[in-house]
Amino acid sequence: MDFSTLIVHAGLDRDPATGASSVPIYQASTYSQKDPEHPGRYDYARSGNPTREALENALAELEGGASGLAFASGMAAASSALLLFQPGDHLIVGMDVYGGTFRVLDRLFSRWGLRTTFVDTTDTANIEAAVEPGTKAIFIETPSNPFLRITDLAATAAIARKHNLLAIADGTFTTPFLQRPLEYGFDLTVHSATKFLNGHSDILAGAAVTRTEELGDRLKFIQNAFGAVLGVQDSWLLLRGIRTLAARLEAEQRTAHWLAERLAALPEVRKVHYPTLAGHPGREIHERQASGGGAVLSFELAEEALTMPFLRRLRLPLLSVSLGGVESIVTHPAGMSHASMPPAERELRGITAGLVRMSVGLESGEDLLADILRALREAKRGMD
Ligand SMILES: *Cc1c(COP(=O)(O)O)cnc(C)c1O
Repeated sequence: MDFSTLIVHAGLDRDPATGASSVPIYQASTYSQKDPEHPGRYDYARSGNPTREALENALAELEGGASGLAFASGMAAASSALLLFQPGDHLIVGMDVYGGTFRVLDRLFSRWGLRTTFVDTTDTANIEAAVEPGTKAIFIETPSNPFLRITDLAATAAIARKHNLLAIADGTFTTPFLQRPLEYGFDLTVHSATKFLNGHSDILAGAAVTRTEELGDRLKFIQNAFGAVLGVQDSWLLLRGIRTLAARLEAEQRTAHWLAERLAALPEVRKVHYPTLAGHPGREIHERQASGGGAVLSFELAEEALTMPFLRRLRLPLLSVSLGGVESIVTHPAGMSHASMPPAERELRGITAGLVRMSVGLESGEDLLADILRALREAKRGMD
């Protein structure tokens, strides 16, 4: 079956009771029981809800995993996954993971004795070199944020297997439509479903999918015990958003690639970062493990002083944090998405004031380019 077909029908695609074209929103916190000694399939909504379950089954199916779980946000999914570990455990984490992931490890889990080494995982030798006796997991993001750096999934999973580590990937930027890390030997994927999976910038949601039933059961226990579950209305909306994932991402990444090439040719732009752009250092690996470049790109303006006037002049894209919506979203990483990172850490990662990230939506590429060119022109003329 083609993946686009699976996206439309994954999980439950109709109400088993009535045949209705979508699973109902079971707006209930508890379930009445016929027999106090033998509770039914559902007892309390934190432990299970049919609408959330339809979504969770779809997530597992799309990712090719044994168990899918829906959380209140991407950070709730990642943090719940981090609760698999214990004080004293050591994690190797990609140096440019999402700023919130960095923050929760650096400021929260560190207080509970979880040790983290951040490494540049684009060279998997760095991962191997960071393995210590207490190392329990590798956590990566590919393409990473905001430079779209690429990490070799198969090579990373091989290192994890060799040292008996859990391999975890944050799949937010690609979604299972473009890349499925479990197929390369990863144990667990986490997602901010707030972004491309939902696709409409109208809910906050997280997802996790495990390769094995056993890990799924452990994470399901944490989901229920810790309680950061996704609410039922948002579960329904996310399931609805997922149904158009293939059509959205296909169109968005076509425009993103086109725009990346146009931007790279502008004298005002020093460098464009996009995984399938000619000259991208990780292009070959990315094209081997993913079926497209995705819809996020970043670029560096040659003249840093132009950045703020340029951003202020843009009309079409939202100037905001987040990504993955039907509308294009432009972010200034140094001041917005990566503001939670200490300045020294930001500098170490090359996140300069001239860097702009763009999540390309469903607008026409020509219109987006015209808006960017106009904003650059006006910024240069000093119309601010
Ligand atoms: C947004 C994001 C997160 C966090 O997800 P929330 O839904 O905002 O909690 C995690 N990882 C990546 C790559 C993200 O872009």
